[in-house]
Amino acid sequence: MIVNTAADMQIYHEELAPQLPKRIFDAHVHIWQLDAFPPGFSFAPRETSSYFEHQFSLEFWRRCMQEILPEQEVGLLAFPMPHNLADRDKAPEVQGETEFASILLSPADPVEVLQQRLLKNKAVGVKPYLNFAADHHQKSLADLEICDMLSPAQLDYLNQAGLAITLHIPRSLRFADPVNQRQMLRLCRDYPRIRFIFAHVGRAYFLQNIRQSNISELADCPNCYFDSAMVNHSEVLRYCFDHFPAERILFASDAPIALLHGKSVEVNNQYTYLMAEDYEVGSSIYDSKKSLQFTTFFYEQLRAILAACPKQHQEQVFYHNAINLFRGCAKL
Ligand SMILES: [Zn+2]
Repeated sequence: MIVNTAADMQIYHEELAPQLPKRIFDAHVHIWQLDAFPPGFSFAPRETSSYFEHQFSLEFWRRCMQEILPEQEVGLLAFPMPHNLADRDKAPEVQGETEFASILLSPADPVEVLQQRLLKNKAVGVKPYLNFAADHHQKSLADLEICDMLSPAQLDYLNQAGLAITLHIPRSLRFADPVNQRQMLRLCRDYPRIRFIFAHVGRAYFLQNIRQSNISELADCPNCYFDSAMVNHSEVLRYCFDHFPAERILFASDAPIALLHGKSVEVNNQYTYLMAEDYEVGSSIYDSKKSLQFTTFFYEQLRAILAACPKQHQEQVFYHNAINLFRGCAKL
């Protein structure tokens, strides 16, 4: 077994398999190989990116899925690990009808380069990230705004091409931040042909954050989507389903991080990652005495979304929303 313990397998067979649809699409997976990095490169020992020998290939992802979702057919949207040293020319070599790729994007990338990379990799979209924007604008991560993450020329091009952007929003207040809220709304309205997928439900990992968001206002933008990556919190997800159309919510995991054992939990209007293994994810707390038996973040996410998503929408949220979205983008 690569990921699961015998106890995890029991959770799958007794609890998850009876509820899960037969087809699942994971809209947020990081796929990369070490050859995208300079020779001799490695991640720090306790970084989660080092977990599977510093890389996570498509082939390996497929093997993991056979193990953790043995009764499901699984598709994905794959993008590389957004690291400053990653070669942004490279994207996952997806195959078949249910695998799609996005490329990494820095605001420094000229539109011609962006266009070439999209074509070369047959990509359906882009994955900007905080570190690229901070590097390009010489700003601290704390001062970044969404509008720093893509240039106006890049946005114009992506709008014209009708592609997707998976956006990890900045700023410490995340989805409760008024600057983020205004910019999310403005981007959706100004670039109506871009599909904006706000990752991790706008990074609202605890209830107060989503309650203070403008998700109801964004519900009126037909090109606004959310992915559920790393959200382990069923009440946060329930709030989404109550205030936003289920047709535009996408199941997503954030593998390979999601394949570690742990759980993200809310503590006094904050959240932390309780880690069963000695790896760091954000503000992690490590169960050093091995007091608890954990399962993977992946299974905790499945539990949360199964509890939150109305039954009649589950096949859409787990599969059709994403497959229709990315098939609609894949026309370059
Ligand atoms: Zn991610």
